[in-house]
Amino acid sequence: MAIFTEPTCGEPPGISWFDDEELSTRSARAGRQTGGETESPMPFVCPQCSVKSLKVTSKIELPSDSRSDEITLQIVLCSRCGFAGLAVYEESRRGALGSESFDHTGYRVSVDDLRRVKRAIERCPKPRDRRCKCSAHCELGSKDASGRWNGLKDVQRKDAFRLKL
Ligand SMILES: [Zn+2]
Ligand SMILES: [Zn+2]
Repeated sequence: MAIFTEPTCGEPPGISWFDDEELSTRSARAGRQTGGETESPMPFVCPQCSVKSLKVTSKIELPSDSRSDEITLQIVLCSRCGFAGLAVYEESRRGALGSESFDHTGYRVSVDDLRRVKRAIERCPKPRDRRCKCSAHCELGSKDASGRWNGLKDVQRKDAFRLKL
């Protein structure tokens, strides 16, 4: 029973050359392009070195789901120890997340999974548009039969950590 009918997803994620050095340099550049956004430039506490040096280096806004009004998938990178992972920011205006109206959780994932998500975000022409219908949005914004976002269903999340300012 599929209640989520979207246009057919685009091409499958391609494989091409990509390494971690590129990840950090491109990310650093991307970070400077966020001017104008009401986003805090404050770094988060890194789960690996425990220093406030973990920053969101790229992100993609995803469609709302059965639980959250805002879902943002982010790549986080520590400028100090080099830790890189995924983070999910969810905000609900329906009180579905308990007393907290938002949830910001990071995940330690494999380098391969991280690259795959990073490449998908880079493939999207409009990562800040949650209504974008590109293949990356299709893949990362997928939902399960109950309408809950499960865009990371193919990503093995090794452990989770809370993003603290
Ligand atoms: Zn660190
Ligand atoms: Zn897109």
